[in-house]
Amino acid sequence: MEACKIMLPEYVAELLDHLDRKGYTGYLVGGCVRDALLGRQPEDYDIAVAAAPEQLIHAFSGYRTVETGVRFGTLTVLVQEYPVEVTSFRREGAYTDSRHPDRVEFTDSLTADLARRDFTVNAMAYRPDTGLIDPFHGEEDLRRGVLACVGDPHTRFSEDALRILRAMRFCSVLGLSPDPRLMAAANSCSPQLSEISVQRIFSELEKFLCGEHAGQVMRQFIKPLCTIIPPLEKAVGFDQKNPHHIYTVYDHIAATVEACPPQRLLRLTMLLHDIAKPYVMTEDANGVRHFRGHQERGAQMAREILTHLGCDRRTIEKVCRLIRWHDLRPAPDRISIHRYLLQVGYEDALLLTQVRRADLSAQAPAYHDQLSQIDAAERMIRRLQAEGAPVDVGGLAVSGGDLLALGIRPGPQVGELLTALLKAVADGKVENEKKGLLKKTLQLQEKAE
Ligand code: ATP
Ligand code: MG
Repeated sequence: MEACKIMLPEYVAELLDHLDRKGYTGYLVGGCVRDALLGRQPEDYDIAVAAAPEQLIHAFSGYRTVETGVRFGTLTVLVQEYPVEVTSFRREGAYTDSRHPDRVEFTDSLTADLARRDFTVNAMAYRPDTGLIDPFHGEEDLRRGVLACVGDPHTRFSEDALRILRAMRFCSVLGLSPDPRLMAAANSCSPQLSEISVQRIFSELEKFLCGEHAGQVMRQFIKPLCTIIPPLEKAVGFDQKNPHHIYTVYDHIAATVEACPPQRLLRLTMLLHDIAKPYVMTEDANGVRHFRGHQERGAQMAREILTHLGCDRRTIEKVCRLIRWHDLRPAPDRISIHRYLLQVGYEDALLLTQVRRADLSAQAPAYHDQLSQIDAAERMIRRLQAEGAPVDVGGLAVSGGDLLALGIRPGPQVGELLTALLKAVADGKVENEKKGLLKKTLQLQEKAE
């Protein structure tokens, strides 16, 4: 086989040379080796070296460094302004809480350092002069497209259950298939996910959701996913018995996650958009199932789930709005779209077109012709946006002050008139232009009296 060669950025080569001069042999390890072998641009470069933390600090005394992780043997070195994490070879001690190893042990053995890593594809090391060092056959697994644990998966997931979610992330982002033993252990160790902090869970969840293969991973890792989001469990195998749908609720959700662009807001929305369906279901005399109110209830459930997972406020508010409105289907004509924009605003309207496309693509094919309606709606939204059509009273060509100058008495009627003007503009009854709006104000005022 051809010897593996990885192109290093100059700052990484400088760092390795510097270590060489100080008498230490540094290796690229982990994600950067994996990504380079896959032909993907590594996010960052991690170096492992047989040197104790104090020796590292000494060796890099001429560089700017950050010592935050130094207790665990990690020193961040700034090389040509790029941060590089340099870590002492470690082996990990026993775990008692499936989160933190009880102690960190340093070692001179690269193999021992690689053995503590989670997956074979993450347990490779590289140096330009030595080539690839791959005691656990990660390269072969990459070639076969398989994600496997280093060592016994049950043991490795019991040590640190977060690895289950990392497995989901790597399968989703890299398109790997879980090795059957890994899959079985992920299922049986799922209950231990309850010991992991919600921040770490949510951060992995987002990364997994944004992978290209998130839908496939959802179908494989049902148990771990339902362990971190328990209300999702009812969706699994839930037959919709409705002519619009060909999938169970869970499979529909998985298909929509995969079908929408890989942005966290959209993917979180799709993950939760139909979560309330099993909770609000009614069945009519013909045995057809209905899900009235699942949008509102789903928004409530999403709020609870995301709050529990420590998600930030802004994201929660946005996702809940998108879920509440995900079934709105404005006709693509100008007036209907403008009215719709008064309700949802431009930003959410554009996101909702993505939500609706993903949702529709995972429904019965007979309904797919509605896609052209969504396209037409999007074109109209963009057209109104380009024209600067107002979607709130702030966008009107008159202000509250203008109305007062016209002789309107101060008080709540000012706001009510502005809202009525906005509606009149959306309905095409008046242009958003000062003279016409003031005239319209007087007409509205007369009618009110
Ligand atoms: P990326 O940086 O692209 O997110 P990565 O593989 O570099 O992916 P990191 O979280 O940066 O992932 O971790 C760096 C390396 O440390 C991993 O490749 C893996 O070898 C090891 N590692 C990280 N977290 C764990 C863990 N929980 N258990 C075992 N090994 C781990
Ligand atoms: Mg990394």
